[in-house]
Amino acid sequence: VNWLSYEIRQYSLYINGYFQNALSGYRFYSTCPGDGKTVAEFADGDERDVAAAVAAARHAFDEGEWSSHLNAPERANLLRKIAQGIRNQVDELARMETLDSGKPIVETSVIDIHLAADCFDYYADLAHVLGGRQVALPQNAIDFTLREPIGVVSAIVPFNFPLLLTAFKVAPALLAGNTVIVKPSEYTPSTALELARICGEVGVPKGVFNVVTGFGPKVPEALVNHPDVDKISFTGSTATGKRIMENASKTLKKVTLELGGKGPNIVFQDANLEQAIDGSLLGAFMNQGEVCIAGTRILVADEIYDEFVGRFVERVGRLKVGHPLDWDTRVGSLIHETQFRKVMEFIERGKEAGAKLLYGGNRVVNGELQNGFYIEPTVFADVDNEMDIAREEIFGPVASIIRFAIEEEAIKIANDSCYGLAGGIWTENIKQGLRVARRLKLGTVWINQYNRLCMEAPFGGYKQSGMGRELGIEALQEYTQVKNVYIELEDELITLYE
Ligand code: NAD
Repeated sequence: VNWLSYEIRQYSLYINGYFQNALSGYRFYSTCPGDGKTVAEFADGDERDVAAAVAAARHAFDEGEWSSHLNAPERANLLRKIAQGIRNQVDELARMETLDSGKPIVETSVIDIHLAADCFDYYADLAHVLGGRQVALPQNAIDFTLREPIGVVSAIVPFNFPLLLTAFKVAPALLAGNTVIVKPSEYTPSTALELARICGEVGVPKGVFNVVTGFGPKVPEALVNHPDVDKISFTGSTATGKRIMENASKTLKKVTLELGGKGPNIVFQDANLEQAIDGSLLGAFMNQGEVCIAGTRILVADEIYDEFVGRFVERVGRLKVGHPLDWDTRVGSLIHETQFRKVMEFIERGKEAGAKLLYGGNRVVNGELQNGFYIEPTVFADVDNEMDIAREEIFGPVASIIRFAIEEEAIKIANDSCYGLAGGIWTENIKQGLRVARRLKLGTVWINQYNRLCMEAPFGGYKQSGMGRELGIEALQEYTQVKNVYIELEDELITLYE
């Protein structure tokens, strides 16, 4: 099988249009979580490399040509070329992403990489939407707003959708005329550096797009603390998000935070059960549960509880746990040992709390999987929303099924969480679907669907799932600031001063 041997790719930092070593000369490796083999080598940056990247991005922004509104069509053209550059190499990029992250190749090939390309195309199309508004005043004056780029944006990205989440940030930021420094997760930096190569090839000007690799907290905190960075766009854990907000307050940087979740996925009595089961499987086990929007709390109506649970577990049993490069794999490897231990600990806590373990719960170690971090897709039923497995983000293949009697109770359980990122509703009753959608305290609600992100629609968190929005026109607002311009039309000005 071809996934058993691969070359070790070599990367360096990308600063001011050049690939270069870290000033320290240090390097680090990424290993495939699925088999422990080394897949790529990277420059281990530090504060000095961050300073160089910020200086390059600052200069490219302040010099003004890139950020000028006159250049919006040119920026859009470059975004289209980046999209094409990604599409030209979907297979290679998907393979790299899978090797770095342990996620199934079927997901990176069919979803992640294509969507990343789509994201660049979508924002290219919005070049002509980047306007302000005219303000009506009750006096003889004209007032209007301009939307201007913010400046140097730093994008700090997690391991679970490396290229896709980078695209969510970079595409709107560049379209709006900002310059960008990406800090990818230390576990999955390859595709950010491939994106840098593509940016260089299609002619993105020097200093506009930069990548600094290295470890958290050192490298990303240097970006968050740097006075010449104007905005931080972060996706990652809620704990890190809080730390970023604290650090960013010292220079009062603008921040967008896309954080954790504990998605409620409500299956009502009259749901199309086959669809609800399909969607709930995707919600709970996509990317082996390492998904911020994962539907990990499956709330099921009393009347259909037994049937749903039976059929769901039967389908879970068919999901193949396997090497991430195997096309039949549906549950790949967790990212690293710490995450693996954390998930196993949650499974123990679920058992101790009295939840009924109906499927899975074990490490998978057979044959070639022995050096990876594989956990069986795991299903707990009869879960109480007070249990840790229902309250905390596990970030692994663990679904908790919770029973409810009436709509009101489902809403109450769904909203009883410190998170508020996304959730689902399964019902054939449109009035019920809309009624419940309105009452869920979530940034995204799907009715008869799950995990479906659209470039055109805003995405982000209520409560401790974050602040600000990605995607849609809303994201453009996050990467621009508003200038108000007032034009006096009176010839004789009233003055207080003679
Ligand atoms: P993480 O918070 O550990 O790391 C994310 C990034 O932050 C990495 O690049 C890391 O180097 C950097 N970082 C580490 N310490 C930092 C610090 N002190 N200051 C600034 N940056 C720092 O998250 P992770 O483990 O890579 O990703 C998993 C988490 O991401 C989950 O909680 C998940 O819910 C969340 N997530 C959210 C979304 C969303 O859109 N809301 C999407 C994907 C993942």
